[in-house]
Amino acid sequence: MRLANIAAARKASWFFLAFLVMSASALALVIAAAAQRRGGRGVAVGADAVDLLIVGGAVVTMNSDRRVFENGYVAIRGERVFDVGDAADLKSRGYKAGRTMDARGKVVLPGLINAHTHIPMTLFRGVADDLDLQDWLTKYIFPAEAKNVTRDFVVAGARLGLAEMIRGGTTTYADMYYFEDAIAEETRKAGLRGTLGETVIDFPAPDNKTWEAALSYTDGFVKRWKGDALITPAIAPHAPYTVSPEHLKEVKAFAEGRDVPILTHLAEAPTETKAIAEKYNMRPALYLENLGLLSRRLLAAHVVHVNDREIEILKEREVGVAHCPQSNMKLASGAAPIPQMLKLSLRVGLGTDGAASNHDLSMWEEMDTAAKLHKLVAMSPTVVTAQQALEMATIGGARALHMEREIGSIDVGKRADLIVVDLSALHLTPMYNVVSHLVYAAKASDVSDTIVNGRILMRNRRLMTLNEDAVKAAARRYQKQVSASLRAGAQ
Ligand SMILES: [Zn+2]
Repeated sequence: MRLANIAAARKASWFFLAFLVMSASALALVIAAAAQRRGGRGVAVGADAVDLLIVGGAVVTMNSDRRVFENGYVAIRGERVFDVGDAADLKSRGYKAGRTMDARGKVVLPGLINAHTHIPMTLFRGVADDLDLQDWLTKYIFPAEAKNVTRDFVVAGARLGLAEMIRGGTTTYADMYYFEDAIAEETRKAGLRGTLGETVIDFPAPDNKTWEAALSYTDGFVKRWKGDALITPAIAPHAPYTVSPEHLKEVKAFAEGRDVPILTHLAEAPTETKAIAEKYNMRPALYLENLGLLSRRLLAAHVVHVNDREIEILKEREVGVAHCPQSNMKLASGAAPIPQMLKLSLRVGLGTDGAASNHDLSMWEEMDTAAKLHKLVAMSPTVVTAQQALEMATIGGARALHMEREIGSIDVGKRADLIVVDLSALHLTPMYNVVSHLVYAAKASDVSDTIVNGRILMRNRRLMTLNEDAVKAAARRYQKQVSASLRAGAQ
């Protein structure tokens, strides 16, 4: 080969090498951009590489053994928990972490699951208090909704609720409201996990004026979100007393045809028991059983007025129950028979209900209240223990949503939905028992970090996906509008 040819060949191979390097870096950029779109992070590559390593804190796993690592670690790779264990074993693992979080003096636990909300109702926080459920609904809530609820209202309310939930360590919620498609969009942007049910009801709703329009909207909503990593679309008939039996049957067929959950209110107050008895000569839960609505597909909120036989049917049908103790107390709906349900291992989670009937979305208050309410009702301090209350807020909520294979505990392979709670506050000092403190003493404001699907949504009390000042300013504007609309209605 002549010298010139050798030089040309060398030049060509350099070009080829440069081309390869450039292609590889272009590919890396494309992969990084795709990862960014998925949730703003890369995915660790290599057997010992993890994206996030949380070390130094107590890890309350809520796994099947309810294992607590006093000094533990959690390794996250991509969207899932890669490893969890005792910090003493960490060195032998040799993880190379993209990011490390120091959790000394803190506790790591599965993200909390709020099993019943109406998220945009945060904008009705405190609109009317100290009233009977029917008066509260018909004189305040329904008129306020009719006059104010638009898609923009729902967006502003959802942002407020999402920010509050992230701050309080809620990582998954089950919602029932209108314009649920907008709620899904906001939830996706904020990074939370949600089972979101479009509410259908037998009177004109803010988003759909007829039953047919509501079903068609829900069909589009389900088609858009089915299969999403964070959003599970659902249909949510408001209650047995606001949706006719014919329409409830249509809901059942709709949900079965599209394989989506059904969310509803059930057996909430004595007025409902009376109304269903007068109309159909049945109790509310049996009425739904007769229509074929009780199944694994159903997540029923409240379930206060059910007898032993009905509890057994709910167990047989594997219905999820969202217990809402604070809402039930505030509206004097009654106390759900939770000790009996827990004894029979029903799928019981905890819910705050809408902020209009609770004022806040704090699952910490809900745990505390659940444990205390049932002790008082049973006149026995041994019912609904701190452990059981924490279970309802985590793995119990996951079971109620039929998502226990994916969320509810810190287990290898499950979704990386977890929170870090700072134990340094006065009201948590000193500490003898971590579970007791979490239920009876900790507050939403003690949560320092919130992670959903491997993505950090709050870091050291700083929200990463929502602008808190803008969210509050929008909420205050709506408060003025809602007040004015109710004053106009009263004249
Ligand atoms: Zn509700």
